[in-house]
Amino acid sequence: MVLGGGISEIVGRDGRVTAVRTAAGTTVPADLVVYGVGVLPNTELAATAGLDIGTGTGVTVDAHLSTADPSVSAIGDCAAFPDARTGRRIRLESVQNAADQARCLAARLTGTPRPYTALPWFWSHQGPLKPQIAGLSAGYDLAGRTPGSGPGRAVLRVLLSRAGPDRGRVGQPRLGPHDGPQTPRTRPLPRTGGGRRPRVRPQVLRGRARVHRPLTYALKETAMRRVVTGHDAQGRSVVVSDGPVPRAHAFTTLPGFASALPWATEPGEPAPRAGDDPTAEVTGFVPAPGGTRFLVLTLPPDATMADPSFDPVVFGREQLAESPGIAESMEIENPGMHATPTVDYGIVLAGEVTLELDDGALTKLSTGDIVVQNGTRHGWRNHSDGPVTLAFVLIGVPAAN
Ligand SMILES: Cc1cc2nc3c(=O)[nH]c(=O)nc-3n(C[C@H](O)[C@H](O)[C@H](O)COP(=O)(O)OP(=O)(O)OC[C@H]3O[C@@H](n4cnc5c(N)ncnc54)[C@H](O)[C@@H]3O)c2cc1C
Repeated sequence: MVLGGGISEIVGRDGRVTAVRTAAGTTVPADLVVYGVGVLPNTELAATAGLDIGTGTGVTVDAHLSTADPSVSAIGDCAAFPDARTGRRIRLESVQNAADQARCLAARLTGTPRPYTALPWFWSHQGPLKPQIAGLSAGYDLAGRTPGSGPGRAVLRVLLSRAGPDRGRVGQPRLGPHDGPQTPRTRPLPRTGGGRRPRVRPQVLRGRARVHRPLTYALKETAMRRVVTGHDAQGRSVVVSDGPVPRAHAFTTLPGFASALPWATEPGEPAPRAGDDPTAEVTGFVPAPGGTRFLVLTLPPDATMADPSFDPVVFGREQLAESPGIAESMEIENPGMHATPTVDYGIVLAGEVTLELDDGALTKLSTGDIVVQNGTRHGWRNHSDGPVTLAFVLIGVPAAN
């Protein structure tokens, strides 16, 4: 690791990087270079206006995002605000923070002031993965990773808040590389004193995570592997593609909610001979009679929607954009309840889910259970503490009278 140094040259041969030369004159051999560039908030305008900018670390605001001058507020990357959970002054660089602070300020300007308390979360695109991070980590004494890693699966690492005076501090789940170890591994704890370094089993971690409800949010990477067959020029059957599902989306307005459309067929069409991907063309997730949609959904625990940062209106908008057809079928009065003119073959891939129907009966389904949904009005509820992933094949049928 070379920290705090600059780069003077990236050296290459035949179009490929071979080394990096540092400003200090060292040459470090490399075949991949990741250059992390730090930033500083631009506080000059605020300083000129006589506002407090700390030591250049951000425009100082109170819990309502107001500076000492009540006619000036600051939000987003440049604002240094008191963290509702720790009381410490922090500055965050994320889209969530900028957008939620804008909402908070708009509420104050329109006469409904409330302090800024949104749970920080962050998403990013890393190749085929869309990792999401909830909470902030400022030290921890438990760390672990969930089991179930492997090709096409996420590894969820959870850092739990410290017991004692800092109890209640939010931890930081992180998404690891998707090709993690096949067997659950434990992570060493940081040394907290002269004692032995204990180890946390994933089971222990899961048990603790249940206590810290805010941490038990669902997280689903959408890089599920999809293998597609077709025919080559000689008419032989071959694998024509093998990789992540191209049409997959991790929702930003409801952390842990993800949908993927691995395949679709239209009524009366023969099987695509070359195995060309039809999903980019799909404009509705509810198939016409005789058509099909292959859907994989991951639902976070319903408790996620109780978080003050959850906004059902913006979530509804994202659903309309990302799950067209199904979003429109959702009832406004009874969130989650809907009916589509389809017979749905469903299987629970992982987790626990509850099926709600008209008569109020709640049917719990868990990993490996299958369901046949005959065009009935229904809702999927996640009353568990973890995510649930379901695969469905929706088969379009004529609408019932
Ligand atoms: C390379 C990169 C990747 C990122 N990736 C992610 C990500 O994956 N996920 C995530 O959540 N966040 C990400 N972020 C952070 C995210 O983009 C920022 O947190 C967010 O855009 C901040 O919004 P903002 O409105 O506070 O500031 P900005 O988006 O920076 O907007 C400030 C605006 O003010 C203008 N401005 C500045 N000074 C003046 C002036 N004196 N007069 C008039 N206008 C002025 C600027 O030109 C700019 O348009 C990334 C940032 C960068 C740079």
